[in-house]
Amino acid sequence: MITLQNLHTHSQWCDGKNGVEELLLNAMEQGFDSVGFSGHSPMFYAPEHGIAEGDVQGYIADVRTMKDKYRGQMEVFCGIELDLYSRLDLEPYDYIIGSVHYLKIHGEYVGFDRNAATVKSVIDTYFGGDGLAYAKAYYQTLATLPTRGRIDVVGHFDLITKHAENVSFFDEDSPAYRRLALEAIEALLPKAPLFEINTGAIARGYRTTPYPSAFLLREIQQRGGGIIISSDCHDMHRLGQSFGDAIALARECGFTHTHVLTEQGFVPISLNDMERKLKA
Ligand SMILES: [Zn+2]
Ligand SMILES: [Zn+2]
Repeated sequence: MITLQNLHTHSQWCDGKNGVEELLLNAMEQGFDSVGFSGHSPMFYAPEHGIAEGDVQGYIADVRTMKDKYRGQMEVFCGIELDLYSRLDLEPYDYIIGSVHYLKIHGEYVGFDRNAATVKSVIDTYFGGDGLAYAKAYYQTLATLPTRGRIDVVGHFDLITKHAENVSFFDEDSPAYRRLALEAIEALLPKAPLFEINTGAIARGYRTTPYPSAFLLREIQQRGGGIIISSDCHDMHRLGQSFGDAIALARECGFTHTHVLTEQGFVPISLNDMERKLKA
């Protein structure tokens, strides 16, 4: 039975630090019983940030080879972190994490998953300095993820709050902001019922708490949505980064279960089981 799994994992095929095999060996030492790789999909508008077009088959083959090699010791899955505007056949992958890192504005692809100064310049240049208009563009874009086909997990739902502990571009507690986020949750839930609790920004020093905010997680829970817990790993030593905090946050927001991917698809597992494995 899989109880400790990370499905949001980047390797050297995109912008991660580690090779697939060394990461798996390290994951076993850390007590994980399953890892899914979610390389950034090739982005013609940002080739340096995704898997190279010509490397897609190599990536899949590498992960599948390791899946066979470590069968019985570690359950390995081959997924992709799909950026909304990537042109990619989704058929070969075991699961799809759908994410928005770019906004399409007047035909231009504008990256905002950057440092705070860049975000400020995006808001000034494209939204007349109006942070709420930026939030609106993000959530309305995110809500269209299912138009790409199968999306199993919504990645870092409120990614635009990455810098909120240091710089305020909009008021996360305002009814106007919350309405925008809730509209996106309602649009996504029927087609992408799993949202990730993502601890990646903690590993990289941007935040002290995971995405999404407790308010939004409670709303997801009350609307019948599910969760997975993931570290958006770019460094194998941080594969289980703050999983304990994510479990505590999930409980605080009313969840008793998270989900893991198995050969039979996604199944719920109790937070207690994951926590027990984490502490073992
Ligand atoms: Zn991402
Ligand atoms: Zn990622």
